[in-house]
Amino acid sequence: MNVGGISNMDLIYKNPNEPVEARIQDLLQRMTVEEKIGQITQIHNGVSSATVIKNFFIGSVCNTIVKKVKNESLEEWAEMIDGFQTAALETRLGIPIIYGLDAPHGNSKFYGTTIFPHNIGLGATRDEDLARRIGTATALEIRASGAHWVFAPCVAVCKDPRWGRCYESYSEETDVVCKMTSFVSGLQGTPPQGHPAGYPFLAGRNNVVACAKHFVGDGGTEKGKNEGNTILSYEDLEKIHIPPYLKCFDQGVSTVMASYSSWNGSRLHADRFLLTEVLKKKLGFKGCLVSDWSGIDRMSEPRALTYRECVAASMNAGIDMVMVPHHYERFINDLTDLVQSGEIPMSRIDDAVERILRLKFTAGLFEHPFSDRSLQKFVGCKEHREIAREAVRKSLVLLKNGKDSEKPFLPLDRNANRILVAGTHADDIGFQCGGWSKTFHGLSGPITIGKTVLDAVKASVGSETEVVYDKTPSEETFSGKDFSYAIVVVGEAPYAETLGDDPEPSIHFGGTEVMRMVAEKIPTLVILITGRPVVLDPAVLEKVEALVAAWLPGTEGDGITDVVFGDYDFSGKLPMSWFRTAEQLPINSEAEGYDPLFPVGFGLKCKKW
Ligand code: BGC
Repeated sequence: MNVGGISNMDLIYKNPNEPVEARIQDLLQRMTVEEKIGQITQIHNGVSSATVIKNFFIGSVCNTIVKKVKNESLEEWAEMIDGFQTAALETRLGIPIIYGLDAPHGNSKFYGTTIFPHNIGLGATRDEDLARRIGTATALEIRASGAHWVFAPCVAVCKDPRWGRCYESYSEETDVVCKMTSFVSGLQGTPPQGHPAGYPFLAGRNNVVACAKHFVGDGGTEKGKNEGNTILSYEDLEKIHIPPYLKCFDQGVSTVMASYSSWNGSRLHADRFLLTEVLKKKLGFKGCLVSDWSGIDRMSEPRALTYRECVAASMNAGIDMVMVPHHYERFINDLTDLVQSGEIPMSRIDDAVERILRLKFTAGLFEHPFSDRSLQKFVGCKEHREIAREAVRKSLVLLKNGKDSEKPFLPLDRNANRILVAGTHADDIGFQCGGWSKTFHGLSGPITIGKTVLDAVKASVGSETEVVYDKTPSEETFSGKDFSYAIVVVGEAPYAETLGDDPEPSIHFGGTEVMRMVAEKIPTLVILITGRPVVLDPAVLEKVEALVAAWLPGTEGDGITDVVFGDYDFSGKLPMSWFRTAEQLPINSEAEGYDPLFPVGFGLKCKKW
């Protein structure tokens, strides 16, 4: 085949038998400045089209968070991506695009996919192998939609639950986060022995490119402020926030995303020391460093830089690909001008493009640019739902079991006469999934296929057992009825990023009142559906028989009933310290006087096996 007028196999860059580095150099020396700048530019699918891709030699497209595109089915999505790919292959050099999207807990944008627990729940499992299997399953469900790259995992070490992205972090403990980075090997496949650390890797067409984010210190900002400032010495940054990246480099993670946050007042997107001296030179990262969404546009504060200055600062600091510049034409014009004036040296542009091409060659995009529709059979399949259910089981943390420690309340009797299931989160798949599910901020209601806690309770109890459901119980709920016990499911409304910043994380929709009211009347198990530890009223806690932290479990609610009815024991351990009052925050397990309600690592067992 002839692509863009150049005939194929004689060209080194088109020949898969040539070494990747030789292919990169061959292609790079054929490229014009315009083509190089196009590779650096990532636009979102709301503005992308064959014409835009061809006119600007666009190198990458990603999902828009704003719903500008009607087509939401996997098939239509795959067709759309393949359409963009066709346009890219018709350009002069035929360099394929790479398409990226967010998948923080499965391919959660689409209907019918498997949605796994958010990272905080996975951190509670401390199960490396599980994280790897979730990665493998996620890769298949993502590939089925035609995309090649996911912006995950978030390897933030969250030091403050007031942060709206706390649930995207596996733990406040660096070691736990490091362990769970095995998710990268699940997504990308495991590199062979001897694969150089920091060099991109992708095993095959059933895998997707991973992205370790957000470099670096995003989980350590003051007061847990999203996109805030992390005040730390370099030594502490290296001790607390950098180790997960090294673990990702060992696994050949192909991309890293820069953080919106600052380090000691310096914006990460323009911090040459951290992005180039540390990430690329000291840590030896050879893959592609992508900016965050419109990360450059947000850089003008607080120094009131012009957009052109922001572009120069971030490119010179070491950003290789720019995700969604707000006005991509303006970005392209400014970058072109900066290169022509010498304010950004050509060597910097070449370094960025080499890294982007390395990503594309190692991902096999030149050989296999199009989607594989046969993978659609894996979407939401039984095997993936089983992995998700196992993850839910292992993520549950038992915080209290019995008012009297001699008399454990769990496991529950599945043959009880009558059970009350209550609370805003008892029958809501959207709430179970949380943010980054279907939409950016998450939704309430039947957003996708799955089992709510209520569905799972109904499926678990004996045929003689009556299950009464009341979302908002009142005195009437109890009149003339004799309940054996209650399961109250309450928690937070979904949120994402800054929308979730909260000076006092707590139970929403009057859930504490529901806990109190029900627990005063009948023995009560409370299941919390939250993205983080939340403030608990000690008087109410005293009244409930049992308390389980279920985090944001995703679509498989039956993982919860597997454990509370005793088919499996609890094994989850707190990934974060559970604070008593917001005044204690940030709570540091290494500080003197550490006095949380429950310490990090806490988790009861239910019975002896
Ligand atoms: C987030 C990233 C995400 C990107 C693309 C940004 O707002 O900070 O984590 O990958 O959007 O959706």
